[in-house]
Parts: sequence; C-alpha cells; structure tokens
Amino acid sequence: MFRRLFLVLSLVATSMAAPSRLTILCYHHVDYPRANPYNISSQQLKTHLSALRSAGFTFVTMGSVRRFYQQGASLPSGSVLVTFDDGNHDAYTLAWPILKAMRIPMTVFIYPTAICVGHKRGFMDWSDVLVLSRAGVEVGAHGFDHPYLPYPPKSIATEAQIDVWLKRETQGAKTYIEQRISHDVTTMAFPFGLISPRSSAAIKKAGYQLAFNISGKNNNRSTDSLHLNRIMIVNTDTASDVLRKARNDK
Ligand SMILES: [Zn+2]
Repeated sequence: MFRRLFLVLSLVATSMAAPSRLTILCYHHVDYPRANPYNISSQQLKTHLSALRSAGFTFVTMGSVRRFYQQGASLPSGSVLVTFDDGNHDAYTLAWPILKAMRIPMTVFIYPTAICVGHKRGFMDWSDVLVLSRAGVEVGAHGFDHPYLPYPPKSIATEAQIDVWLKRETQGAKTYIEQRISHDVTTMAFPFGLISPRSSAAIKKAGYQLAFNISGKNNNRSTDSLHLNRIMIVNTDTASDVLRKARNDK
C-alpha cells in the first residue's frame, strides 16, 4: 500500500519537475589590459559564477549537454555551461584557475590561425590547449580563421570555391585541432555568432554534434542542437544581470 502510494507520489513529482533549461554563457577575456566590452575582471567572473551557484544553478559539462541532446538524458532544470571564445591566453592563465578552484567545467572555442600565432598576439599556444584538453576542458572549434561564415571573402568568386572555403572553416578546423590535441572535436561556436543555411549545412556535414550561436536566449529540450543559444557576457553585466538572463524563458 505504502509502496504504491510512494510510486504514485514519485510519478506526480516527476511530471511536475521543472523542464530542463540550459543557459550557455559566452565569455572572452579576463583582466585584459585594453578596454573592450568583452573584457571582464576576474573578480566579476567570480561574482557571476558564485551568484549562479548560490541561486541554485548547476554547472554542467559539455558531455552532459551532448548526452541531453543526443541520448535523451536529463539535465538539472537550471543548468549552466560556461564557454570562452577565441582561445585568449588570459582564459588559460586567469579564467581556468578560477573555474578549477570552483569546480566548474570549462569549454574553450579556438581557431587554428590564432593558436598558431600564440602568446605574441595574446592567444594560447598549442601546448596550453593540450594542457586544457588533457585536464578535461572541452576544446571546440571556432572556424579556421574566425570568418563571417555567411559572407565569403571577396577573393572567392565561384560557388565551388565557397564550398571549399566553408569546408576548410568547418571540417578543416575540426581535423586540424584534433591532430594537434589527439582528441575528438565535436563542438563548434560560430565566429561572431553568425550562421547561414549553407554554413550550417557544412557544419553538419563536417560531423559536429553541437554548434553554438550568440542569440542571448536560453535552451530547452526542443532547441536544435546545431543552433544552441548562448548569452554573451559583457563588462557591464552585474551578477543580477547574469541571473536575470539565466532565468529568461523567452
Ligand atoms: Zn570569436
């Protein structure tokens, strides 16, 4: 009798559970010496992440997000994925230690032309990326040259050339990074958050499992896993701004 009652109550509780809402934050620089709206202070980063945790949000790994969309696994109702774009050196030297100390999973979206130049232009180098990957940080692609994917360079004249260019920016970036870190690359963030049907098809064809825009929205079970929404964080964002954005269901 009691067992049956417990079963009924459990089923009711499950059906009433809040649907999964996934917030994906997009950061760039931490404590970067030049004025830039995408440069936040390391104290600001700590404040944002602490506020989310105190408010009951759960930081999740890219693996959990992948299982949610590909295998139907569950995610906590207020899940947060923290991503850093461009492979900036300060994301390695300053942001990563903060996330590590707070036990928050990290994702970095990098592009080969930046990482090949490395520290002299303020980017990570391949040994930094390798350290991150081996430590369990998700390394995703961000194009090969960080182009505007919907707008091919003017030097490209024919349809066939556009396809070759798009293949390099999607499949080419994936393969190049995989060879440098000896690890699968299955995620890609659109440079500048911009995408077109043609470039989206190239991303799908390249075999990416998850791809990310910067729409400012949150995600749920029905969001297209190749158009996952991210929220750009800028230097005017307070902890309450970040909480408001993370709670937004529109
Ligand atoms: Zn970028």
